[in-house]
Amino acid sequence: MNESVVVGDVRGVPGQIVYGAFPGVALPTGGRDDLPVIIAQGKRAGPVLWVTGSIHGNEHSGLAVIHRLLGPGGVDFPVNELSGAVVMIPTLNPAGLRTESRSPYYSRGADPNRMFPAPERPHTRTNAFPEGPPASAMESVYERLFASIEATADYLIDLHNAVIGSIPFAFRDPIYYAGERDRVAARRLQIRNDEMMAAFGLPIINEFPSVEYIKKNLHRSVSGSVLNRARRPAFTAELGGYLHVDLLARDAAVVGLRNVMRWAGMLSGEPEPLPPIPFPEVDFPVRRIMYPRAPQSGIVTHLVDAGDPVRQGDAVARLTDIYGRPLGPDNGLLRTEYDGFVVGRMQGKVYYENEPVLWLAVRDDGDLLLPYPDDR
Ligand SMILES: [Zn+2]
Repeated sequence: MNESVVVGDVRGVPGQIVYGAFPGVALPTGGRDDLPVIIAQGKRAGPVLWVTGSIHGNEHSGLAVIHRLLGPGGVDFPVNELSGAVVMIPTLNPAGLRTESRSPYYSRGADPNRMFPAPERPHTRTNAFPEGPPASAMESVYERLFASIEATADYLIDLHNAVIGSIPFAFRDPIYYAGERDRVAARRLQIRNDEMMAAFGLPIINEFPSVEYIKKNLHRSVSGSVLNRARRPAFTAELGGYLHVDLLARDAAVVGLRNVMRWAGMLSGEPEPLPPIPFPEVDFPVRRIMYPRAPQSGIVTHLVDAGDPVRQGDAVARLTDIYGRPLGPDNGLLRTEYDGFVVGRMQGKVYYENEPVLWLAVRDDGDLLLPYPDDR
């Protein structure tokens, strides 16, 4: 017996793809900024995978991946062979998408990917993180949507963009636990999440270490919240530059999603090979770092590109003045003190003092399984 997935007023129909909307922010001028909802409901029972895109309105690849996965009118999606259901939200931020800006204009520059509900301690369901100000209109929508995710989702993948020319990759979030008993459950969740990320197949990069993760409110990102509050496997995929669709990254994500469905038992068959995306070969786990930073304002010439391996001591960029004359010691060279690889060059050529010039992935020995910050 297959139970149909229900998201807001949208109800899955076995063997069909249905289209609807989730009530969004009410507009002062009337109407609402509803979130588009697509449910592909299989004929057989099985897990429910959520795929969400474009919470940052200037990041269009999530939308592109969902459209590509479905094909026009859903012709390319094997809904008849599906066990379970796939819930797709092509944009979590319609206002940002319309205006091609990261935030919805009614959230005045705040990051929408820091607006999902903060994790609570399991069992007691008490707050594990400081309370913020009263919820904004956007946060209220996400709170209701989160309830729907928590009620239905077995897995969630949130699709994003990084910088122009960056390699496509997946972010691995930390998982927090409360006490020793919960540590075991958290580890189980982490293993399951790692399996799902491996099935997706893109290079895996750990998120910031704990203190920075919480300081940057990443526990309230879509994947951070679903992983830590709903405690379902969830990750963020970064698919090349924003305001642009990197076709190879898009197609890799489409294949990755189908491979996740195979891993989850939602589709049968062997995994498909990914298109030839850059895959930096390092034999150690890595985390993200925005590094190095410009020691003073100037013009940057990058000496490495996305996907390049780097070793401690390598020159990765040169800083000059507007005349092209080297600035600072070492003939203007900026060197890395880490081993790893280049995720992408930060966009542009002019940098102010202390702005990062590269996005690197560097060796990381942390295991991303951590006690709640106030449980230490
Ligand atoms: Zn993003």
